[in-house]
Amino acid sequence: MNFIEFSQVSKRFGDNVVLDDLSFKVGNGERVTLIGPSGSGKTTILRMLMTLTKPDSGTVAISDEFLFHEKQGDELVPASEAHIRKVRSRVTMVFQQFNLFPNMKVLRNVTEAPIHVLGKSRDEAEQRGRELLEMVGLQDKAGFFPSQLSGGQQQRVAIARALAVEPDILLLDEVTSALDPEIAAEVLDVLRDVARSSDVTMLCVTHAMRFARDVSNRVLMFGDGKILEEAPPEQMFNDPQHDRTKSFLRSVL
Ligand code: ADP
Repeated sequence: MNFIEFSQVSKRFGDNVVLDDLSFKVGNGERVTLIGPSGSGKTTILRMLMTLTKPDSGTVAISDEFLFHEKQGDELVPASEAHIRKVRSRVTMVFQQFNLFPNMKVLRNVTEAPIHVLGKSRDEAEQRGRELLEMVGLQDKAGFFPSQLSGGQQQRVAIARALAVEPDILLLDEVTSALDPEIAAEVLDVLRDVARSSDVTMLCVTHAMRFARDVSNRVLMFGDGKILEEAPPEQMFNDPQHDRTKSFLRSVL
């Protein structure tokens, strides 16, 4: 089943054509890594799924529900706020810079959306929140403020917070680039566990190629607003076909 579908999506910022008639599909439960040089539009794709960036043309859909449009008969019309909220609620994103709520303690960071967006009771949200904190190895930090945690710990809280809303789609945008390699490895271990223990669909922008190799079933290489090459990770990393993929991988591996 096509779970995420980009169809003929174009996006430019001024003269800068970032996505050029891009089409691709991701199946339910797939783990897809997006690679390519800086500026090749990878984050823009994730931001479109979060409705933070709107395409200039083309459509983006999640299980046949359009993110920026609604169906009226056979016509696509601009979507209502309520429609966008409904489709959008199935997607969460973890950012490079953690973006925790600085004035809330760790547990409240994790329970805020389940209570206020999903309408869960505080008890239920806190119980699940503590389970998730345990999963990311931070059960003893529930009562701390984000500023009292290391970067790697903050990022693990951000992962727990993202999972607390029971997303169908988890977007990871360079989640370890702000961290020292050793700390990054801890965060990637947590994400490996997430990938093993859940069936969430994952789209991941990363330069951590070993991680990409471990968790993803497909790698997409971007350039010139398009997908230049796509392949399972073993093939992409061991035997890339496109010259641009070869030189990109030489620069990061
Ligand atoms: P990547 O994630 O592959 O590094 P991005 O999707 O972040 O690429 O960005 C693609 C291009 O779009 C970059 O050149 C970036 O500067 C530009 N861009 C992204 N967002 C904006 C914006 N809001 N205004 C202007 N340019 C933008």
